[in-house]
Amino acid sequence: MVLYDPDMVTVYQDYGIMLPISPSRAERVMDFLDRKGALRLDPVKPVFDRAGAARFLGPGKADAPVINRADLERVHKREFVADLYEDGPEGSEGLEKALLNAWELIDSQGRPNRYEPDKAVKPLGELFRRILVQVEGTYLASRLALSEKGAGFCYYLGGGMHHARYDHGAGFCLINDIVIAARKLQAENRAALIWVVDADAHKGCGTAELVRFARAGNELGGGPGAPDICNLSIHMASGWPLDEETLKTALPNRAPRLSADVELSIDRGAEDTYNEELTKGLTLLEARSENRTPDLVMVVDGADPYKHDGLPSSSLLNLTLRQCIERDWVIYAYLQKRRLPSVWIMAGGYGERAWEPAAHFLGSLAGTGS
Ligand SMILES: [Zn+2]
Repeated sequence: MVLYDPDMVTVYQDYGIMLPISPSRAERVMDFLDRKGALRLDPVKPVFDRAGAARFLGPGKADAPVINRADLERVHKREFVADLYEDGPEGSEGLEKALLNAWELIDSQGRPNRYEPDKAVKPLGELFRRILVQVEGTYLASRLALSEKGAGFCYYLGGGMHHARYDHGAGFCLINDIVIAARKLQAENRAALIWVVDADAHKGCGTAELVRFARAGNELGGGPGAPDICNLSIHMASGWPLDEETLKTALPNRAPRLSADVELSIDRGAEDTYNEELTKGLTLLEARSENRTPDLVMVVDGADPYKHDGLPSSSLLNLTLRQCIERDWVIYAYLQKRRLPSVWIMAGGYGERAWEPAAHFLGSLAGTGS
C-alpha cells in the first residue's frame, strides 16, 4: 500500500529555502502510477491519505496529534526539544536557530546561504509543524505495514530525515522521523527488533548516532545488551557528511564518525558493484541481529543515488534508473522471502527527475512494467 497526502508536501521555497527540492515529486509518482493503472493493483493499493490512515488504524482521538513531544524526547536531547518548542531556559537557542542550523542557511561568515528570507511567504518557524507531519507519516506508514498479515508493505511518499542528530539538526533534517517512529513502535510494544536499511546516497549518520550512541549506555539511557535497532547504510564513500572538512570537526563517538552496524561505502565509479554489495550487506545485517528476526524493516529509499539527481552533493554516486530499480528489488525480494513487514520512506531526491526511481519501482511491483 501507499501513503500519500498532498497536505503533507512541504514547499521549502515558501520559507525562503532555495533547495532544488521539487514539491511535486510525490504527486508525479502518483500520476505515473495512476497512468499505469498500478494504483488499483497489489501491493500498491490501497492508497491512504493521512486522515484515512489514522482512521484505519484508530490511533486515538481524531484531533489528537499522532506524534507528540514525548515521542521526540524519547530520541533527542531534552534541551534540544525544548528549543524546538521554544520553552528552554533563558539564553536557549530556540526554534529559528535550530532550523537555520539544520538547513545550513547561514554560512561561517554570517551570510545567507541558499536562503532568501525576502522571498519567504511563511514564517520559518512554521516549518517545524510541517516536519512533525512528516514524522507522523513515517509512523502511520509503519503501522500500516504492520497491520497486514505476514510481509506487509507500505511505501510512504515522504519522510527520511536521517541526518538529524541527538542534539541538533543537520543536512536538511531537523529531527529523525525514522528513529522517532521506531522508538514509538517499540514503546507501544508493536515491535521489538527493527532494522533500518538506508540506501540514500548520503550516509545515514544521524540514525547511526541515535541508534549506536544510545546503545553504548550514554545519556540517552541505552545500555549494553541485545540491539533493538540494527542498521545498514549504503552510501557514497566520500562527499558530505564524510568530506574532510566535516570529519575534521566531528567528535569521535558521534555522527558522522559512528558507523552503522553494517556500513557499505561505494567509491566513485564503482556503481556496478552497488547491488552486489547491498546483497552481501543484508546477509551481514541478519548476522548482526544475532539470529533474531526483525518485526519491521524501515527502508530509507533515497532517490539521490540516481544519476539524474539534481543535488551537487550527491553527484559522487550515479546509479542508472535500472540499477535503482534493481536496488529496490534486491531489498524487497530479500524481505519478502523472509516474510518481513517493511515500511519504505521516500527520503532524499532532488531536481526534476527525483520522482523516477520510486515511481518505476512501485510500477514494477504492481506488474505494470517500469
Ligand atoms: Zn541524501
